[in-house]
Amino acid sequence: MRVIVVESGGLAPQADADALSEIENVGVSRELNQSLVRPRGLGGASQIWTGRCAPFDEVDYARRPWVPHSGWPIGSHEIDPYLDRSAAHLGLGIGRGFTEAGPPRRFRRSPAKNVMDGSLVLPFFWQFSTDAMRRYDSMRFGKRILQGTSDNVRVFLNASVVQIDAGPTVNSARGVEIVGPDGARRTIAAPVVVLCAGGIENARLLLASNKVAARGLGNGHDLVGRFLMDHPRGGVATFDHRRVNALGDHFGLNFLGTGQGSYLFCRGLRLSPQVQEREGLLNCAVWLSEIVMHDDPWSALQRILRRRGTQVRRDAMAIASNLGLVVKGMYRGVSGQVIPRKLARLELNCTVEQLPDPESRITLSDRVDRHGTPISRVNWCVNDREQQTVRRTAELVAQECTRIGVPAPVLEDWVRDKAPFPPSFGEVAHHIGTTRMADNPGEGVVDRYCQVHGIRGLYIAGSSVFPTAGHANPTQMIVALGVRLADTIKQRAKSAHAA
Ligand SMILES: Cc1cc2nc3c(=O)[nH]c(=O)nc-3n(C[C@H](O)[C@H](O)[C@H](O)COP(=O)(O)OP(=O)(O)OC[C@H]3O[C@@H](n4cnc5c(N)ncnc54)[C@H](O)[C@@H]3O)c2cc1C
Repeated sequence: MRVIVVESGGLAPQADADALSEIENVGVSRELNQSLVRPRGLGGASQIWTGRCAPFDEVDYARRPWVPHSGWPIGSHEIDPYLDRSAAHLGLGIGRGFTEAGPPRRFRRSPAKNVMDGSLVLPFFWQFSTDAMRRYDSMRFGKRILQGTSDNVRVFLNASVVQIDAGPTVNSARGVEIVGPDGARRTIAAPVVVLCAGGIENARLLLASNKVAARGLGNGHDLVGRFLMDHPRGGVATFDHRRVNALGDHFGLNFLGTGQGSYLFCRGLRLSPQVQEREGLLNCAVWLSEIVMHDDPWSALQRILRRRGTQVRRDAMAIASNLGLVVKGMYRGVSGQVIPRKLARLELNCTVEQLPDPESRITLSDRVDRHGTPISRVNWCVNDREQQTVRRTAELVAQECTRIGVPAPVLEDWVRDKAPFPPSFGEVAHHIGTTRMADNPGEGVVDRYCQVHGIRGLYIAGSSVFPTAGHANPTQMIVALGVRLADTIKQRAKSAHAA
């Protein structure tokens, strides 16, 4: 097969490319500078992502009577082999298995009395993506594609797709129309088109491809752009930072040693499926964030080594006056443990699944970008259920900490007072659900193979196909579904060739 990757941006950030992502926001407040959340350029948001990865929980695929519009047409048995294969692409120690098998043996050190009630909260583990060539960085897919591209793959940069062609009867992909830096329009003919422009642009491109189908492609049931979800996130409580070691059985960073090397992972807690069902809540998870002091010696050392900042003298002082911590950190570093920092605060962070809400949606604005394509009008909604879930999760964590005798967190006032999310508890640039997957075209835009219902050869990759969002950061699932989609396309091409 011959593959053409069509990328709107270039190899470095470009304001003119980012300007094409402008949005009109009419819902809950979101970042308006889209270059901070959806930078155009080869590799997309992986140019700036944090690399936190996790698979979905079993409950995330299920049809849950208390969550309207929930339920994936495919289950974990279908996705699991691809989550395993995603590890190689993302630079992870293992694909999945943390949640079922628990942490590696050397971290299983909680005596029975120190275990939280699993019917309320369960341990959860995130891994961090690592670039094999730059061990302290997350995988940046743009750089990787340039290093590893095969002869059958061509990459067109500074080429923005403005229309998808699905033929005169709108039933099969024919190719795309692009605009290059010279402003000229060209067409690329292709029997297979995979839309992978991110959760907002995927919907926008389908809606704006309305030359033949007036409501846009795949939009016969007015579903394209609906069910926009993110993962509202923020601090819900603080712990006494002097007791950080006492929390190590339940929270914190560790290294996982494998035959291939050592990989960073983070442990935290998730809300149990039993509580979700009993109390009609969504999925939710918490972990600990270490907020370091301004004179943390390791931050100072990093700044000096990276030649960032102008305060070299002050940074040198910070190192000299915290030599005990430096020596301890060096010992821990050499023995494969996480380096202790000089802490100002320990924050309990929380992230929550959103209700799939058809009113939370992307439509086309009356304003157009410089190519004449309408920009996205974003009406992101946050519902009470998300707020109840976060407050309840924080309460249960505090309750369980107290019960088993580890330092309990002090809940934020808004959590205790059952108030709505404060402004600091907001979006995290996860754009999910806008071209959701369902077997029935009346309930979803793509089928279980990620093909747009009724349009042969037009596929979608990315979190826009997720019918529900879980609490997990989306990229490991995106990559797993991407690998599965590649298999589907290759198998279908092979069958067509053989016929
Ligand atoms: C600061 C930050 C931190 C994050 N941290 C994490 C994390 O720790 N873990 C995690 O799982 N996720 C994280 N994310 C989210 C993660 O980056 C996204 O989920 C992921 O990048 C989505 O991948 P995608 O390929 O679907 O879309 P994108 O990464 O958005 O890529 C879309 C690509 O399509 C191109 N494009 C768009 N429109 C067109 C067009 N019309 N024509 C041609 N090309 C077009 C864009 O230029 C871009 O290259 C983070 C995001 C941000 C902003």
